[in-house]
Amino acid sequence: MKQAFRGSVLHFLGDPTESGRADTFEYHEDGLLIVEDGHVAGLGNARALLPTLHGAAALTDCTGKLIVPGFIDGHIHFVQTDVIASYGRRLLDWLEQYTFPAERAFADEVHAREVARFFIAELLRNGTTTALVVGSVHPASVDAVFEAALARDMRLIAGKALMDRNCPEYLRDTAASGYADSAALIERWHGRGRMQYAITPRFAPSSTPEQLAAAGRLAREHPDVYVHTHVAENEEEVAWAKELFPERRSYLDIYDHYGLLRRRTALAHGIWLDDADLARVAATGAALVHCPACNLFLGSGLFDLRRAVAAGVPVALGTDVGGGTTFCMLRVLHEAYKVAQLRGISLSPHLAFYLATLGAARALDLDGRIGSFATGREADFIVLDPAATPLLARRTATARNISEKLFLLMTLGDDRAVARTYLMGKLRHDRDARDSAPGQGK
Ligand SMILES: [Zn+2]
Repeated sequence: MKQAFRGSVLHFLGDPTESGRADTFEYHEDGLLIVEDGHVAGLGNARALLPTLHGAAALTDCTGKLIVPGFIDGHIHFVQTDVIASYGRRLLDWLEQYTFPAERAFADEVHAREVARFFIAELLRNGTTTALVVGSVHPASVDAVFEAALARDMRLIAGKALMDRNCPEYLRDTAASGYADSAALIERWHGRGRMQYAITPRFAPSSTPEQLAAAGRLAREHPDVYVHTHVAENEEEVAWAKELFPERRSYLDIYDHYGLLRRRTALAHGIWLDDADLARVAATGAALVHCPACNLFLGSGLFDLRRAVAAGVPVALGTDVGGGTTFCMLRVLHEAYKVAQLRGISLSPHLAFYLATLGAARALDLDGRIGSFATGREADFIVLDPAATPLLARRTATARNISEKLFLLMTLGDDRAVARTYLMGKLRHDRDARDSAPGQGK
């Protein structure tokens, strides 16, 4: 089936920070995105392309709106959906006080399925078409979120948390059971539909050396699955990791020692990494996931994006719900801008949107499939409304170019600016649809 979508269309071809590249993005004010059998089949000027279709494509008019590749959320906890916006704690006591009790509830599969359905709908409502998801320690939590994503043919990466110490008894696995449960989930889910698995030690302090060794073994046995964890988010946490693994040079070195750094490793935060650590992340091909909304909310610190980029580290952005206070990547871009300001640089709207789309796809080794409108890519895209609110409409009317429009969307926009979300060319969220099924996030 052939479809065509007419509107302003923007996607990235390269990294805007690479010097000497003038062609890092492609923008058509009156553009046409052509989709065939769920994949991108063409992109160009609408007036030029429309006659070539000879009426053989279903045309959707998105005039006045901006079509971009769907957002990629590089780090989010679906099992923390119900503790988002919990008051008054920092990372370690926030985990104790709010997170662990909430994750306990995922021992109940009915609860896991209910939250998973809401979670996936909420991602789509916010324009996120792929996410890297942390589950609870219970394998059934991961089954639940994969089932909900599979039902919508959404590309999703997820894993069960490995945690065998320094957490409540009721949330502990063991090195052996964590290994076996993860192996079974890989067998069941990795490569099924658009599902991919991530080996997910929660963070070094909550795993014994035996468990990290088992995770490393699993990673060696499955070279194409992801590794997903946290590193150097908060200073108390860094000190604690050092205390627990005194023989390791740094927090990052713990993961390195157990063979967990490689291409397809995503490390959330990395605020407190030193230069040697950053060089090591870059050398191994791992990526950092910057989660500014969470870092500000938990008071963890200010990530230095410029330093990471200069070190050659691939960077994605994440909401980190429930430490993060939004599912919306537009708001994450806004928070990233403010964190960068406090670090003495201004995050350009082009770099911000790149990091949420193609940049994240590259960091996660998915740029051959998603993140841009290159021919053959999976047609996961969103339709943004630059006039979503009276203020956004008023201010956008004065915008002189696409760069200013993008900046207004990321600064004044939120879920209301996401008019539609498409997965593989299929409409999966329509802001303006009048009736929606219960549990669809409306
Ligand atoms: Zn996290």
